[in-house]
Amino acid sequence: MKKKEFAVIGLGRFGGSICRELSFEGMPVLAIDIDVEKVNEFKNIASHAVILDSTDEDSLKDIGISNFEHVIVAIGENIQASILTTVILKDLGVSRVTVKAQNDYHEKILHKIGADRIVHPERDMGKRLAHNFISNNILDYLELSDDHSIAEVKVGRKMVGKSLAELDIRANYGCNVVAIKKGNEINVSPQANEALQTDDILIVIGADNDLSRFEKHLV
Ligand code: ATP
Ligand code: ATP
Ligand code: CA
Repeated sequence: MKKKEFAVIGLGRFGGSICRELSFEGMPVLAIDIDVEKVNEFKNIASHAVILDSTDEDSLKDIGISNFEHVIVAIGENIQASILTTVILKDLGVSRVTVKAQNDYHEKILHKIGADRIVHPERDMGKRLAHNFISNNILDYLELSDDHSIAEVKVGRKMVGKSLAELDIRANYGCNVVAIKKGNEINVSPQANEALQTDDILIVIGADNDLSRFEKHLV
């Protein structure tokens, strides 16, 4: 795998965490922040760290930002700075720009100005946790689109000893069990007539309302 060059703008908790993890994985990362203390903190972590205001086009040009394959904009509170930075990056021809959105309006604007990917870490983590709060057996919940998700579900009392066919999951809930995890083993073509056991973990894919019915009745 060719090593991609990343730049992370904004070294708060989110951007900082991306920066650390990419560096840990051996990826070259340029860490950028307007705040000297933040930049100092990342001098020994990222491959390079520079102080600059990313709303200043000339500063971004000076560091050759258009040579980076992927730029992550992790400026939070200052929505105006986040938007302006994104516009400049797309103007300068950066091919992949991922931006952290602060709220739905921010997200809409980012779409319009050509952000390639928009992430919403607080909202998404909130959703995942909420499903886990509803039931301890819902281990994780990942959005695939606005109305489809994948849930990771621990087999509960109502499912133990029954097979997928007996529970008739596809017919009753419109959901598909794509895999069953047993300890470290994962079976990606589960049999319809094999009895489920305590501690089995189902990976279920479906429309959100179908998954919601499945969770209510069986989990
Ligand atoms: P998190 O929740 O990830 O900690 P946040 O959403 O609270 O972050 P901020 O703290 O507002 O976001 O911003 C993240 C970082 O972006 C800060 O370290 C801030 O100094 C930096 N930043 C803000 N504006 C600019 C700018 N114009 N140029 C470069 N960096 C900036
Ligand atoms: P269908 O009648 O839906 O075409 P099928 O021909 O695949 O089912 P089986 O594989 O025997 O028949 O499954 C019987 C029923 O068991 C299915 O209708 C479905 O409700 C349920 N089922 C089987 N496998 C799964 C799965 N992986 N995920 C969800 N439900 C399943
Ligand atoms: Ca924040």
